[in-house]
Amino acid sequence: MCGIVGYIGHRPAYPILVKGLKRLEYRGYDSAGVALIDDAQHLNIYKTKGKVSDLEAFTQQKDTSGTIGIAHTRWATHGEPCTANAHPHYSSSGRLALIHNGIIENYAVLREKLQTKGYTFRSSTDTEVLVQLIEYIQDLNQLDLLTAVQLALQEVIGAYAIAILDREHPDQLIAARKSSPLVVGIGQGEFFLASDATPIVEYTDQVVYLDDGEIALIRRDQPLRIVDLNNVECPHEVKTVAMNLGQLEKGGFPHFMLKEIFEQPDCINDCMRGRVNVDGDNVVLSAVIDHKERLLNAKRFVIVACGTSWHAALIGKHLIESFCRIPVEVEYASEFRYRDPVITPDDVVIAISQSGETADTLAAVELAKSRGAFIYGICNAIGSSIPRATHTGSYIHVGPEIGVASTKAFTGQVTVLTMLALTLAREKQTIGQDEYLYIVRQLVRIPEKMKEVLLLNDRIAQLAKIFTYAHNFIYLGRGYSYPVALEGALKLKEISYIHAEGYPAAEMKHGPIALIDAEMPVVVIATQNGLYEKVLSNIQEIKARKGRVIALVTKGDTVVSQIADTCIELPETPECLEPLITTVPLQMLAYHIAVCKGMDVDQPRNLAKSVTVE
Ligand code: GLU
Repeated sequence: MCGIVGYIGHRPAYPILVKGLKRLEYRGYDSAGVALIDDAQHLNIYKTKGKVSDLEAFTQQKDTSGTIGIAHTRWATHGEPCTANAHPHYSSSGRLALIHNGIIENYAVLREKLQTKGYTFRSSTDTEVLVQLIEYIQDLNQLDLLTAVQLALQEVIGAYAIAILDREHPDQLIAARKSSPLVVGIGQGEFFLASDATPIVEYTDQVVYLDDGEIALIRRDQPLRIVDLNNVECPHEVKTVAMNLGQLEKGGFPHFMLKEIFEQPDCINDCMRGRVNVDGDNVVLSAVIDHKERLLNAKRFVIVACGTSWHAALIGKHLIESFCRIPVEVEYASEFRYRDPVITPDDVVIAISQSGETADTLAAVELAKSRGAFIYGICNAIGSSIPRATHTGSYIHVGPEIGVASTKAFTGQVTVLTMLALTLAREKQTIGQDEYLYIVRQLVRIPEKMKEVLLLNDRIAQLAKIFTYAHNFIYLGRGYSYPVALEGALKLKEISYIHAEGYPAAEMKHGPIALIDAEMPVVVIATQNGLYEKVLSNIQEIKARKGRVIALVTKGDTVVSQIADTCIELPETPECLEPLITTVPLQMLAYHIAVCKGMDVDQPRNLAKSVTVE
């Protein structure tokens, strides 16, 4: 993961770099560092364990002058999170500084080779090998930096987004990408570089997304040049990005996660905008219509995703199978990519990823593409790698998600999957007109119902206080609610570090019921739908063993309240749309438990948002 920022221009680089790192801190926060070349051509490198604020404190009395620099916030893959392993890493002579996002898979072989040539290493990262290798190649053959970088990258196996500074050339920055994202911002007499566009949008809306195998030569007062590893010029398109700066700030909320939970009604409206007609009785995803032939003739859909997106995929399976009568398989992208899956040109593969950069999902896309499948992406980050690698797709349009625990992206993904299933079903004529109209009309009302659910925030905050003692939690649901149970458990794990498991409610009796005792909180999604009676029996089974039941129920339910310890009443919604409602109180519950426990909600330990490494 890791966040990368670079600047070259006429302004002091340091404040721009630090501000950029803060925008990218969702990508990693184990350590942070910066390298700057000052006017006297000194290369100053400062790095420290911890967050960007620790770096700021560390550099307070230091010389941070210079109009060219690179900066990094790390999510460790190789080597513990400590100052020595923090980026930038520098070459033996101290001439080159390099930052990296990704993994150099053959670092051990390269390191050994360099050690036999007398090189010593200061860190245990894979990254340091790269900077040493570049200098070695440069010195050995008396090459310019660009050529040395090209040759070094030809020896590298793995994934990288890198940026390099050369003390001897304070007017140029070199950046390269393979499988990790990198964006160049073009301003007036200045350039910006970052892992995504969020650090750039404040200064310019003109960006170039680097493609795999491309190297950017970014020089002061000269046009941007992009070449490949063989020095062949790569034509590049300058794109205009639209991003509202307010979306990148907390806007009065204590955490991004809470802000993003509260944004959901607006996000779902944004997601439906232009897709559901003004009368609110028809939904059309243009990507489906544009590729009707291919999608309607698919023999099977396979959805690949990771983490929260995988939970959205399970809901998508339910929706597409029920409405369109097409078989759907859901796969963890990380498993799919390595198990030689049976994929044929008759398949449609849907890839879901908030960031559009998830390395495993991207690799799954490439694999499915190589087998002739038609690929449909569902992503949030505009212009990211997955949308660029797919044949078509639909953005969820929920705005930048900064909190590491995904909230609005999940409900946005479920909304797009619902619209996808409805559009397809309509085209395939596998849904009756009345049912179709009813569901579309109810979908349009979801944002308003979400607002009602958000009014429960204070009540859930009170409830959370009771459960901070817990070391374990169980979440149960059936049908559409089963993936919601998984998602509720994941949210709690991620930010409160309480062990939590989600199960299909009926599976309890096949094992997990042994865990129930008077200490065990069990969250049950017990809304009034097709399986209501069955879930009631499941609640009885838990209560018979003294478990503490927190039930999500439909407003006006008088039965569950007699058995459960606590009931959270939610607006009535058709079963297929319930995940959009029932997920919200579970997000709030996880959030408030984590806050009560004093956890760092937006930056939970060991995690990072955009998983651009395997
Ligand atoms: N492999 C590098 C390190 O551990 C970069 C990690 C990353 O991009 O997530 O420092």
